[in-house]
Amino acid sequence: MNSKKSSKKIGLILIFSLVILIAAYIAYNLFLISTPVIEGTEAFNSISADKTITLKGKNLKSIDISINQGAKKISLLKDAPAAKEKTYTLQIKPKDLNLMDGSAIVIVDAKAGIFKKVRHEINSTIDTIPPALEILNTPSFVNQGSSGFAVLKAKDADSVFIKLEDYTFKTFKAPAGTESARGSNTLTYSVFFAAPFNSKEGSVFYAVAYDAAGNKNIKSLPTKLKGEKFKISTINIDDAFVNRVVSPLLNETNISDPVSAFKKANENLRESNLKKLIEIGQKSEPKILWGGPFLQLKNSKVMATYGDKRTYFYKEKPISSSVHLGYDLASTENAMVEAANSGIVRYAGDLGIYGNTIIIDHGLGLMSLYGHLSTILVKEGQAINKGEIIARTGSTGLAGGDHLHFGILMHGYEVTPLPWWDAHWIKVNILDYLKQ
Ligand SMILES: [Zn+2]
Repeated sequence: MNSKKSSKKIGLILIFSLVILIAAYIAYNLFLISTPVIEGTEAFNSISADKTITLKGKNLKSIDISINQGAKKISLLKDAPAAKEKTYTLQIKPKDLNLMDGSAIVIVDAKAGIFKKVRHEINSTIDTIPPALEILNTPSFVNQGSSGFAVLKAKDADSVFIKLEDYTFKTFKAPAGTESARGSNTLTYSVFFAAPFNSKEGSVFYAVAYDAAGNKNIKSLPTKLKGEKFKISTINIDDAFVNRVVSPLLNETNISDPVSAFKKANENLRESNLKKLIEIGQKSEPKILWGGPFLQLKNSKVMATYGDKRTYFYKEKPISSSVHLGYDLASTENAMVEAANSGIVRYAGDLGIYGNTIIIDHGLGLMSLYGHLSTILVKEGQAINKGEIIARTGSTGLAGGDHLHFGILMHGYEVTPLPWWDAHWIKVNILDYLKQ
């Protein structure tokens, strides 16, 4: 009797414990387990011929991804990770999976426990055809430090650009009246590009087109990058120059080490100013605002040219170097500066080593720069006509005397202004291309 009773008791305790355990397990799954999160699923929206997708999973116990097209169901991923967080990189090649171009549905199932699960159903477009790309016009060569203009044609492209080494030059869609206006998927693109002074002789320019799915088409341009010999010059720096010019540039009145102060202005400040130019160079109007050859400062003498390799000496020792990226033009003191061509003032103000500076945007990434000014007579955003007086020359910034630093920027990179003063070069290299 006693043993019967006690075994019944044990049985009850066991059942009770089991109920508690189940309740605890349910409570744990309901309240303590977080819902799984999958980040990056929007990348399935469009799938190119070779698509890499990175997904980040959180609170995962299992994940199952498949792509479905018609009756076909192909597993892309199945995993039960040990860690709570995991990053997955999937490479999808629709052709290898026997998937057709067109629509498909990607299903992402993720579970964290018995109650916590999520499902994403993504309507996906498979597009494995790269955009067609054709080079219509491009110069046969571009010298180091100079610029070029090309006309490209692309079909079904989302972005088109020219690449050289680590440089990327943005294209602009051709204006209304051409194919783009007729609603065709084939558009023509205009692009100004450069061979910056430190690009390498023989480097290859590429035209690159991407479509919305990420398919890519690359064509190398027949344009040769020719080497250029730049002048070598030396400049002597003394304490008087450091006190008069470098001190205010660095915002310091008491310079104890003139050499490191000069290096700070000539190297660090220069570098940050060049970065600023690239930033400004990206904000260009999508149309050509200028016409004819650029104007050179009236009655001016060329004091320094583009690409001059300068070594600075202090007490007969070389202390720093730089490459001069424009033309130094000297006239009388406080000479009137005309806008070299028509455009919109993109920058008007102090710009470090360039001193008081004006940058005029001529469209499609082409800009002109006027440095070391004493007086600025225009405002940012103002439309300017070629020949209009915009400033007076001076010696602000890192300048030894009154002169104009005139620069041409191509997407923010300084190139030689020389050909831009030449009506024939402009006709042959730009205007004739636009007519075709
Ligand atoms: Zn200069």
